[in-house]
Amino acid sequence: MREITGPKKNSKTNKPSATSRKTTSGDSVIAVPADKECRKFSSAVLKWFEQHGRKHLPWQQDVNPYRVWVSEIMLQQTQVTTVIPYFDKFMQRFPDVEALAQATQDQVLQHWSGLGYYARGRNLHKAAQQIVEQHQGRFPQTLEGLIALPGIGRSTAGAVLSLACGKDTSILDGNVKRVLCRHFTVDGWYGNSAVEKHLWQLTDALTPSVRTGEYNQAMMDLGATLCTRSSPRCDRCPVVKSCLATATGVPANWPHKKPKKEKPQRKTWMLIVEDPAGDLLMERRPPSGIWGGLWGFPQFESSDAALEYAKKLGTIHSDDRSWPTVEHTFSHFHLQINPLHVRLKTSAQKVMDREQVWHRPGSELGGFAAPVSQLLAVLAKSDCL
Ligand code: SF4
Repeated sequence: MREITGPKKNSKTNKPSATSRKTTSGDSVIAVPADKECRKFSSAVLKWFEQHGRKHLPWQQDVNPYRVWVSEIMLQQTQVTTVIPYFDKFMQRFPDVEALAQATQDQVLQHWSGLGYYARGRNLHKAAQQIVEQHQGRFPQTLEGLIALPGIGRSTAGAVLSLACGKDTSILDGNVKRVLCRHFTVDGWYGNSAVEKHLWQLTDALTPSVRTGEYNQAMMDLGATLCTRSSPRCDRCPVVKSCLATATGVPANWPHKKPKKEKPQRKTWMLIVEDPAGDLLMERRPPSGIWGGLWGFPQFESSDAALEYAKKLGTIHSDDRSWPTVEHTFSHFHLQINPLHVRLKTSAQKVMDREQVWHRPGSELGGFAAPVSQLLAVLAKSDCL
């Protein structure tokens, strides 16, 4: 059921003015517009889409739930232009859900390397296995069925069902949130659960039950091409007449920013051990958490601890601590990476206490975290390999 509240008209602008109410968290949010306003909004967006919408993206060709799902997961926190080459390679290697389910996690993460947020890749793999094992390779056709799979939230499920299966399901991705926050001047940070709940009420009310997939695609396109983060092109927008944010003259003031919290700084020492043959000691990260399941260099809390460990592997020929540090930022902390490059004089022991391999640079192994790829590239350029 949609929660519909009739909008008050602003006599000067004839805009659907918002009825403010206070949520329990103290954020001010607005009411949902009436059916007539919703229809006007969706018609304008659909009309604009016919002329200006994007229709040639790779996942818009040969549309099926698998291709839409993979693209939606890749597009979370990642720009379309970055995603396109990854999507194309992914589809070449894993053309359908069965191929993805049969792959190893290393193979999947290798194709995810560089996209970041690796939990997305791991969940994609797990969900493909569940679709094959529990649903005979067919995508569930309900929101609940899709949301029960790893890594699929309500918006992704809505996108898969509306774009690939013609169902009447709404979406609320980052682009849609931005458009709605501006059009209805929704205050408060949209990651706040009360604000997000209200945005869901808005998107549910506005989404038409016919041409739902086109409307959802149109809203994503509107957010990506006109209602952009820093400089919205309101002069070209199909809903400018009713947009409350543009009426204020400073539409980019919405959405409100996430309340600032200082990210803590952490340090790690990455031990780059090279044996006399030029092979590198690589270690697989635990399956969950930061860089889960990816391959990297063994990490330590100090250079002394790293060096002590290296001594157990063989006789040290040289150790080089002069590498510049690498800074990497995660969503909740900054990481300072201090590389320590050790070359061994004698062949290293092959039996080690963690999941490790001696890796010939350039050969296939699995996915690497971005800073590890960066360090491997530096090593490849240096004379030592
Ligand atoms: S009028 Fe401007 S701010 Fe409002 S939805 Fe359109 S592009 Fe965004």
